[in-house]
Amino acid sequence: MKFPIVGTTQLLGVIGDPIGHTLSPVIHNRALAALGLDYVYLPFAVKPADMAVAIAGLGALNVQGFNVTIPHKQSVIAHLGEITPLAAQVGAVNTVWPTEKGWAGTNTDVQGFLAPLRSLSQSWQETQVMILGYGGAARAVVAACDQLGCQGMTIAGRNPEKLAAFGQSWPQLKAPLKTILWEHLTPNLSEAALVVNTTPIGMAPHGDQSPLSQEQLAQLASTAIVYDLIYKPRPTRLLAHAHAQGLHTIDGLEMLIHQGAIALEQWIGQPPDITVMINAAQEFLGLNC
Ligand code: NAP
Repeated sequence: MKFPIVGTTQLLGVIGDPIGHTLSPVIHNRALAALGLDYVYLPFAVKPADMAVAIAGLGALNVQGFNVTIPHKQSVIAHLGEITPLAAQVGAVNTVWPTEKGWAGTNTDVQGFLAPLRSLSQSWQETQVMILGYGGAARAVVAACDQLGCQGMTIAGRNPEKLAAFGQSWPQLKAPLKTILWEHLTPNLSEAALVVNTTPIGMAPHGDQSPLSQEQLAQLASTAIVYDLIYKPRPTRLLAHAHAQGLHTIDGLEMLIHQGAIALEQWIGQPPDITVMINAAQEFLGLNC
């Protein structure tokens, strides 16, 4: 955000319900200020019943782009003129921009998730992935691991019906995907080279919890990577135990920042400074660096 806001200031924003928890204004306004751009990024609380009028209103107000968060990531698709093949595969949109034909949408969570993995510059062809949970974030993780070229994926979940529905919702994956019930997790861990927690287990204020026990972590190979999408507390109990065991760990902060940075580049046509965005998030969340 550049001060002062003047008559030429362009609008960006995020829609969600509730919206009070969002970090997006913090990271985007800091990145826009660092670039010296005449934009402001605002939070918009939009009830599900008001989606059509809200999206038409964003267009009428000449908003230059917006993010979409819970609970609108799926339902927004019906209000867009086009979505990318990636967003169609994930079944969710988190980034929208105006085109001559109306609004277009994509999903930047996938590339956000991949950013810290790609920086490891290793081959993923022989990587078996264990994904804990089958919610919205798990959908982005499956699409991402398929894009990465992983050998196969296993999804662990606690509800048999939801698990089966998730497993059947991927007609075009390159990598085989299997589903297992949570209670069958332990014997499947030894083959996992990448474990991803997409459940909220361990998220503040329940930082004393972990989706895997220390005994379960001990089943993993010493070269395994443990990736927790949660970014507060930092580290989570899961990552603290994995790190103590000598495993490579990744938390959710980089994913959060990179999905935002990709969205911002889509809107303003230039890459923002990732470090500026990370610092803004860490300051706001009171995280350890
Ligand atoms: P979601 O759609 O509500 O999905 C949560 C999943 O966790 C569901 O599959 C749920 O299963 C499962 N789960 C919850 N409690 C469980 C338990 N005790 N045991 C087993 N499974 C359990 O949420 P989401 O949007 O995917 O987000 C999930 C997490 O990822 C949150 O912590 C969120 O903050 C984080 N996230 C981080 C980023 C990032 O940028 N770093 C981005 C997106 C999400 P049931 O349906 O059976 O309850």
